[in-house]
Amino acid sequence: MQPVDKPILKHDHLDIVLESGYCLRLNDPRRFGACLWQGADEEPLKLLQGMGPEPLSDAFDGERLFKLSRGRTVAVKNFIMTNAVVVGVGNIYANEALFLAGIDPRRAAGKVSRARYLALGDHIKSVLAHAIEQGGTTLRDFLGADGKPGYFKVRLKVYGKAGESCQVCGTPIRSVMIGQRNSFYCPSCQR
Ligand SMILES: [Zn+2]
Repeated sequence: MQPVDKPILKHDHLDIVLESGYCLRLNDPRRFGACLWQGADEEPLKLLQGMGPEPLSDAFDGERLFKLSRGRTVAVKNFIMTNAVVVGVGNIYANEALFLAGIDPRRAAGKVSRARYLALGDHIKSVLAHAIEQGGTTLRDFLGADGKPGYFKVRLKVYGKAGESCQVCGTPIRSVMIGQRNSFYCPSCQR
């Protein structure tokens, strides 16, 4: 969110101008983004077909995770980052939610119990809701509506903390690659 008259920078692709005099400006240095527009009564876009629900919607919960995971041997961390399961659970949030739920990110998705998935579903929602409240995370050039960088990072419990003491038990946090993504966990708190 920026003032409309702020000069356009490299990687700025689109402005959605608001009545407030601010605009939502799409700045996409990694070119992962797309902007598609459609009317409310049109068929869902092909690109969005097969996508799972939004994590903060009622259509997503731990029960869905439990049902879809039966028989799956993929690591639970990859599983919750799969768009067909639920959209928008990025690497940082997956790491944090699995820590809060006490689940080892390497565990096979099909081997996590229903009770643990119910807890995980709740933690995914709370981690995301909290991050939105705090202004987001990741890219260094991220700016909130107030022009200040997102600062959720300082509250992270495991992500980026390899070698630091677990805030719960003091065991050093470990990092490991899972599905080509950097993953962080406490070997004592997460089973
Ligand atoms: Zn721990």
